[in-house]
Amino acid sequence: MATMYTETVKTVRHWTDRLFSFTTTRNPGLRFINGQFVMIGLPVNGRPLLRAYSLCSANYEDQLEFFSIKVPNGPLTQHLQKLQPGDEIIIGGKPTGTLIQDNLTPGKYLLMLSTGTGLAPFVSIIKDPDAYERYEKIILVHGCRHISELAYGEKVVKELLQDEIFAEMAQEKLLYYPSVTREPFRHNGRISALLEQGKLEADLGLPALNKQDYRVMLCGSPQMLADLQTMLKARGFEEGNHSEPGQYVIEKAFVDK
Ligand SMILES: Cc1cc2nc3c(=O)[nH]c(=O)nc-3n(C[C@H](O)[C@H](O)[C@H](O)COP(=O)(O)OP(=O)(O)OC[C@H]3O[C@@H](n4cnc5c(N)ncnc54)[C@H](O)[C@@H]3O)c2cc1C
Repeated sequence: MATMYTETVKTVRHWTDRLFSFTTTRNPGLRFINGQFVMIGLPVNGRPLLRAYSLCSANYEDQLEFFSIKVPNGPLTQHLQKLQPGDEIIIGGKPTGTLIQDNLTPGKYLLMLSTGTGLAPFVSIIKDPDAYERYEKIILVHGCRHISELAYGEKVVKELLQDEIFAEMAQEKLLYYPSVTREPFRHNGRISALLEQGKLEADLGLPALNKQDYRVMLCGSPQMLADLQTMLKARGFEEGNHSEPGQYVIEKAFVDK
C-alpha cells in the first residue's frame, strides 16, 4: 500500500464562501518538488476519500499549505471545508506533477497562468529561489470572476514582497497580474483575451508572448487550458514533460466530471 501520513491541521482561513486555505504539520519524510501535487483526504464512511491537491508550501517549509475550493455537496470538500485546527488529515506520500522547473527549457521570463485554485502550485514556485535564479522575471497571473477570489493570492504576494529573505529578489523579479471578469478592477478580462491583445505583456512592460523569451506554466479550468494551449501551439510553443523539456507545461486545476 502507498505511504500515507496523518498530519494535524494547524490553521484554517476562509477567503470567500467558495474558497479557503489551511496549513498542516509536515512529516519530514514527505519530499517534493515545488509545483507538485499530492493526494489528500479524510476518512469518509470509514474509508479514506482522497483528492489531488497542489502544494502551496515550498519544499523547504516545515508545514504544508493548501488552497481549496468548496464544492457544494462535493464528496470531499463538503467535509474538508469544516476542518478546524487540531483535526487530522491524510496526506499521500507520493507527490507528482508536471509543473516543475526541469520540464522547461531555459528562457528569460517564467509566465505562470492560473485561474481559481489553479493558483496553488504557483504559490509554491514563487517561493522557490531556484526559479528566481533561472529567470529575469517571474510573472504570476491569476484570473478569477470576482475581486474577493483574489484575496489569498494577494496576501501571499504581499508577504513575499516583505519577507526578510525574499523581499529583494521578489521586488526585482516578481510581477503579479490579477484579473477579474465579472466586476470592474485594475485588470479586467480573461487571460486568453489579455494575451491575444498583447495587453497583459504591454501592461507589464514586457515583449509580446513569444517562444524565444517566455516559458509558460498553465493551471486552470479545462476551458482555460484548452484556449491557452491552442494559442501557445499557434505561436510555436512545444509542451514539455519529464522525458523532454519544452516551452510550456500544463496541469489541470480540477477535472470536470
Ligand atoms: C492535479 C490536480 C490538482 C488539484 N489541486 C487542487 C487544489 O490545489 N485545490 C483544490 O481546491 N482543488 C484541486 N484539485 C481538485 C480536487 O482534486 C477536487 O476535485 C476538489 O477538492 C473537489 O473535491 P470534491 O470531492 O468535493 O468534489 P469532486 O467530485 O472532486 O468535484 C466535483 C466537481 O466540482 C468541480 N471542481 C472540483 N474541484 C474544483 C476546483 N478546484 N475549482 C473549481 N471547480 C472544481 C468540478 O466541476 C468537479 O466535476 C486538483 C485536481 C487535480 C486533478
